[in-house]
Amino acid sequence: MTPVANAKSVVIIGGGFSGSLLGAILVRAGFTVTIVDRGQHPRFTIGESSTPTAGFILKALIRKYNLPELLPLTQYGLWKETYPHISCGLKRGFSYFFHQPGALPQTTADHARELLVAASSSNATSDTHWYRQDVDAFLFDYAAENGVRCISNAEIADANFDHQRQTWTIRLSSELIIDEVDWVIDASGAAEVMSRLTGETTADRFELTTNTSAQFGHFQNVRAYDDLLTGAKMDVSTFPFSSDAAAQHHVFDSQWLWSLRFDNGITSLGLVSNLNATSEPAGWQGMLERYPAVQAMLREASPAMATPQLLQSGRLQRLASSGGGMGWVALPHTIGFVDPLHSTGIAHSLSGVERVAEILIRDTDPVGQLKQYEDAVFNELRIIDMLISGCYKLMASKRHFEAYSMLYFTAAHNYETQRMALEVDQAPPGIFLSDDAQMVDLIEQGFQLACSEGRSGKLSEPGLFEARIRDLINPFDQIGLCNPAVHSMYGYTAIL
Ligand SMILES: Cc1cc2nc3c(=O)[nH]c(=O)nc-3n(C[C@H](O)[C@H](O)[C@H](O)COP(=O)(O)OP(=O)(O)OC[C@H]3O[C@@H](n4cnc5c(N)ncnc54)[C@H](O)[C@@H]3O)c2cc1C
Repeated sequence: MTPVANAKSVVIIGGGFSGSLLGAILVRAGFTVTIVDRGQHPRFTIGESSTPTAGFILKALIRKYNLPELLPLTQYGLWKETYPHISCGLKRGFSYFFHQPGALPQTTADHARELLVAASSSNATSDTHWYRQDVDAFLFDYAAENGVRCISNAEIADANFDHQRQTWTIRLSSELIIDEVDWVIDASGAAEVMSRLTGETTADRFELTTNTSAQFGHFQNVRAYDDLLTGAKMDVSTFPFSSDAAAQHHVFDSQWLWSLRFDNGITSLGLVSNLNATSEPAGWQGMLERYPAVQAMLREASPAMATPQLLQSGRLQRLASSGGGMGWVALPHTIGFVDPLHSTGIAHSLSGVERVAEILIRDTDPVGQLKQYEDAVFNELRIIDMLISGCYKLMASKRHFEAYSMLYFTAAHNYETQRMALEVDQAPPGIFLSDDAQMVDLIEQGFQLACSEGRSGKLSEPGLFEARIRDLINPFDQIGLCNPAVHSMYGYTAIL
């Protein structure tokens, strides 16, 4: 890549995978880049299940900015072969088990209590779970190897923008001063450093409707759920992939448990509770007592070293008061976050890296372009919120939940299909086709349906709800989603 003329200086706050990746891209384009992280790698981080959407964006970045060392991170087979020391997990798709209190592990011939949706068609080309302490440390080092000045264990103490010179002077907690900085990029995630520091606010605010919290941690010796099913003489022969080689969801009335297995023997588990539910959410122990199938899965499990005790979040949903201002911009996970359901976070973060890199490197009206980017990210969070919030409203009925989740799979699959056909210099579509009026209209209509079903409190007539969702997604459905004939076993939905 030809370095940009008149190269600029950038400070990135936060050396998670997105800050580090953006830093590496910008430094290779000729920018002077400093990353400041308040912590130190390697360190525990949550947010681990990737998706084909994320894979497509990462591949595009690798191609566009010539980052061949990162290609193994886009495919399970190549990852294991090239970087066996960076832990990951095999993710062939999404699996869901809808539990009843007191029930043991079970399946039925018509899959009335399970749902599997394939994302990848082979282990070699498969999607992955990212063991974040390894992946983030690798990318932080990668940024440094490419010439980024990487500073750990430091925070921004002061940041002053000189309006005349249009540059920042930044003082770190270590007293180091960095001046003549053209752009500050906030990749600090939930810390939202710059919007708090500048006090800037974006107009036209909206509220996120999803309302959840989570208890989570890393465990060892979690039994494979498929082993429990086969041990109980249940038939798993029609599963299109092992339900454990997936983002596995154990769904209860108003809660669900994620289970993400890494090859290093560690499993990430998290119990997400809908705080809008009328009944008090069960805690971890309450879940085990109520759902013996999950208890069996965790019988020999013990906390891994990274999380000797379960971590408890407050409300997970957040929107920063601003996503940018004079001389600064934030990446998506700093602008906001909705929920772990549907694993949208890594892909959304990468889509921010892609857009911010393009705008800064091209350097044509960056202020106007960054404002458009910021507005787009807020809109994307609104759309992701609808895709997720509707699922929580319908969680008590497997058929309603399954039908509604097809809105997400429709949006993701269409986005991925469009990306696959994209040439290197073509502008990508908005994530989940968030800039396509017809797709947004479909999601809004679906969400209204979920709201009225949820309000009625009955969740009756699932067939009618399924038919309505099927009609809605029909113009975009190229693969046969929401198809009763497949009995919830979507083996043919793999994009890779
Ligand atoms: C409970 C939960 C579960 C999730 N599950 C998934 C999932 O399964 N799949 C998925 O795709 N996404 C998931 N996500 C989202 C995912 O975590 C994010 O998309 C991802 O972490 C974003 O990466 P990032 O590098 O942008 O930010 P982060 O990972 O948040 O990194 C921020 C960095 O900034 C640093 N920092 C913080 N404050 C400061 C400061 N003041 N000064 C300097 N540095 C600072 C931190 O040390 C950190 O290194 C989940 C999120 C949550 C909360």
